[in-house]
Amino acid sequence: MNRKETFLSQEEVKAMIKLSTPSNFRLGKEIFDKGGIEIIEFTSDKIIANIGENQRRKVEFLSLSNRLQWNCTCNRNQNKFCKHAVALGLEITN
Ligand SMILES: [Zn+2]
Repeated sequence: MNRKETFLSQEEVKAMIKLSTPSNFRLGKEIFDKGGIEIIEFTSDKIIANIGENQRRKVEFLSLSNRLQWNCTCNRNQNKFCKHAVALGLEITN
């Protein structure tokens, strides 16, 4: 599946990336730049990926009532993308 053709709107993902804290953005971009993202599942309503090298975390992007719902095993504040979600967000919008 083309990664640009998902249930997620690119604008919504980019907006979420922008809301992340500067440090989470920087660290997430570092992970993205290093290619530390392994997509495990990519379907029409779900994206699951392993993120990072040393401390691996699992991030899920789900469609819930046409809204982006996300989870990360690092259990950070769910209102703002953690660095892992930033990395996955960059992966699917770049
Ligand atoms: Zn995380």
